[in-house]
Amino acid sequence: MLILTPSTAQTKVIAHRGYWDVEGSAQNSIASLQKAQELGIYGSEFDVWMTSDGVMVVNHDASIEGLKIEDTPYSQMKDIRLKNGERLPLLEAYLQQGKKDRKTKLILELKSHDSKEKEDKAVAAVVQLVEKHGMKKQTEYISFSLNICKEILKHNSKATVAYLNGDLAPNELKELKINGIDYHLTVLQKNKHWIDEARKLKMTVNVWTVNAETDMQEMITAGVNFITTDQPVLCKKLVIKSD
Ligand code: MG
Repeated sequence: MLILTPSTAQTKVIAHRGYWDVEGSAQNSIASLQKAQELGIYGSEFDVWMTSDGVMVVNHDASIEGLKIEDTPYSQMKDIRLKNGERLPLLEAYLQQGKKDRKTKLILELKSHDSKEKEDKAVAAVVQLVEKHGMKKQTEYISFSLNICKEILKHNSKATVAYLNGDLAPNELKELKINGIDYHLTVLQKNKHWIDEARKLKMTVNVWTVNAETDMQEMITAGVNFITTDQPVLCKKLVIKSD
């Protein structure tokens, strides 16, 4: 008799760089977080850098208007405007907006910096800010840097941390107490066994950045825990339909 293994994960939706593909929003803006909160999805992802003088700011690219963030003091960047007119957001402003809706998780990507020293300093600053704002339970961490993932867990052994770089099997990360894989769609399509392997190890699977309906459907069927997408409204509809 054929026994079908039911998919144990009800896939949840994470807005990639917030919900930005709408009027008045911009990637990694406060507005994009606010608009993601209005969708009633699992979480909103954003990217964090440390300036040369230790200020944590939210931006995707390493540079903004030709200034490399980790080499530039905050005072030289504070008046830079995003596409929707907002100023370059501080992580603190993000945490304050996050607090306004306790149901939406903040998926905080801490970017790989130039040295371990800088990364360790950035981790200490981020963990301290999250704690200061009472956001420990509402914040989950992701990073391409294995050093950053490990450092976060040194500061807070209960933190939820997932690794983005796609080069390690779930069991290798489990040994480091990392909670999940958060891999590119093509990595999971090539290594589908990692989804089951992660599940057996009680780890989570997140996949990015899934914007096409067919790919979303494939990942929902595969039973991933989270889909990170620029199209959170479409993804939410598909997730509800498959429920
Ligand atoms: Mg990111």
